[in-house]
Amino acid sequence: MASGEPSPGGGAARRPLHSAQAVDVASASNFRAFELLHLHLDLRAEFGPPGPGVGSRGLSGTAVLDLRCLEPEGAVELRLDSHPCLEVTAAALRRERPGSEEPPAEPVSFYTQPFSHYGQALCVSFPQPCSAAERLQVLLTYRVGEGPGVCWLAPEQTAGKKKPFVYTQGQAVLNRAFFPCFDTPAVKYKYSALIEVPDGFTAVMSASTWEKRGPNKFFFQMCQPIPSYLIALAIGDLVSAEVGPRYDLLFMPPSFPFGGMENPCLTFVTPCLLAGDRSLADVIIHEISHSWFGNLVTNANWGEFWLNEGFTMYAQRRISTILFGLFFPGAYVCCSRLTHSRQHMDITGEENPLNKLRVKSEPGVDPDDTYNETPYEKGFCFVSYLAHLVGDQDQFDNFLKAYVHEFKFQSILADDFLDFYLEYFPELKKKRVDIIPGFEFDRWLNTPGWPPYLPDLSPGDSLMKPAEELAQLWAAEELDVKAIEAVAISPWKTYQLVYFLDKILQKSPLPPGNVKTLGETYPSISNARNAELRLRWGQIVLKNDHQEDFWKVKEFLHNQGKQKYTLPLYHAMMGGSEVAQTLAKETFASTASQLHSNVVNYVQQIVAPKGS
Ligand SMILES: [Zn+2]
Repeated sequence: MASGEPSPGGGAARRPLHSAQAVDVASASNFRAFELLHLHLDLRAEFGPPGPGVGSRGLSGTAVLDLRCLEPEGAVELRLDSHPCLEVTAAALRRERPGSEEPPAEPVSFYTQPFSHYGQALCVSFPQPCSAAERLQVLLTYRVGEGPGVCWLAPEQTAGKKKPFVYTQGQAVLNRAFFPCFDTPAVKYKYSALIEVPDGFTAVMSASTWEKRGPNKFFFQMCQPIPSYLIALAIGDLVSAEVGPRYDLLFMPPSFPFGGMENPCLTFVTPCLLAGDRSLADVIIHEISHSWFGNLVTNANWGEFWLNEGFTMYAQRRISTILFGLFFPGAYVCCSRLTHSRQHMDITGEENPLNKLRVKSEPGVDPDDTYNETPYEKGFCFVSYLAHLVGDQDQFDNFLKAYVHEFKFQSILADDFLDFYLEYFPELKKKRVDIIPGFEFDRWLNTPGWPPYLPDLSPGDSLMKPAEELAQLWAAEELDVKAIEAVAISPWKTYQLVYFLDKILQKSPLPPGNVKTLGETYPSISNARNAELRLRWGQIVLKNDHQEDFWKVKEFLHNQGKQKYTLPLYHAMMGGSEVAQTLAKETFASTASQLHSNVVNYVQQIVAPKGS
């Protein structure tokens, strides 16, 4: 960051970063040419029928960008990320003039340029080039109705069913369809917003402060620099409940596509979590961990997403271990998720380039389309490996603190992190731990496939063994009823049941009739309300073509739209019998309107792949 202002961390000059040179092929903007000092959004929300047309739902107003030119030679235009769904109607430019306090904003010309299927460039031309270090303000008047960045829900798609709702989901590259911006995690800036809502509605944003201005206006300010993808807005008939100081959770409508989204000061979470078990705590711990890993220290481009998610998984499991005891639930959740990414690798092939920690982003490919478990679980393994090299947990915890302090409010690459790691532990640097054969840092980052090192999970085994043995009994041609009845599963925790079902799924299809008996034997599983159990029961039902329970799959997909549950079930249906495939098509036809647009696209690909 080339800022003349005191660095946000205060104190001494900061180290030069590898990320200062990093490209972001997912951004159409010329973000290296300017420093974005501040963004202000002044928007009015209107609810109505889906557009276009008079009175249709939309956000309209202005985006104001305060910039400083960083080009030594000056710049003739500002190029921003935008999207065809943003209707920009005017652009104006305000330049510093000696002697005038508030110089007038002058209209300037602008045009758009195609970029990719997920965005376009919005180019604002300067009548005279701006010079190096010059400060300027660009004002854009625009409106956004339907589009991938702003998700409008009709009243019947909300939990209350009375009022419509709107929310934005920025990660990874969707906020360019919410406001024109430098839509890259490489750039961080402070923002403010004035949001006008209809009578009886409340607006919330990922901001550090908010206040009401008049009956229908909400003013927000984010006093710390954040990347574009973390700016989030939701408007609806919101009810509030106190959670904790400076940390708000927003329970989203059922169609919210993720478990949680770490919008700073305002985490969005799926209502699936209200199942009343530990999974709620895990997701909240995960999202809170993002306050440091991801939000404070951010990947400079989406190819380094593991810096956000691998560290967050590590922090999440450290915290869970401290809160809930050494092996619960962290160690287990971890082996379940590792099984999961094993499944993913088995499906995609170990050599799939997406199974690398550092993904090479290709121009034109939406970073969201490369989303998988690798940055989470292989990232977790790499961080665990680095902790293992240190050998002392306290020392490593202290290192993590120092790491966050070193890079806070910045966006980095793995190289920045690894340089710092070796500097912090000079004895490891001297031992050349970065090139131990088989465990080279370079191999970790750039080779696909199974991680070279797995953290020791054996303590979790004693909890998992009974589940594994029970699954084995259910896979037998002749059921050993006595042995099965001898295992009481009622005291089992959700994570043990999940593990049991994962094993059953691995062994499926079971011999004919076994799944029916299994469902009757354990109604707490086959009629569960917990989403993790419902997902797995659905997968088992489909894999075994147990049609009697197909209605449960349908009901589950009607009740929520989380990507993590929705996609595997559609995969399972389309990989199943003709009846299952019909179920997929019917369910999709009747639920598509309530799903997030990304999820719709992915399900579309599963149900009716292009080119087939
Ligand atoms: Zn995360």
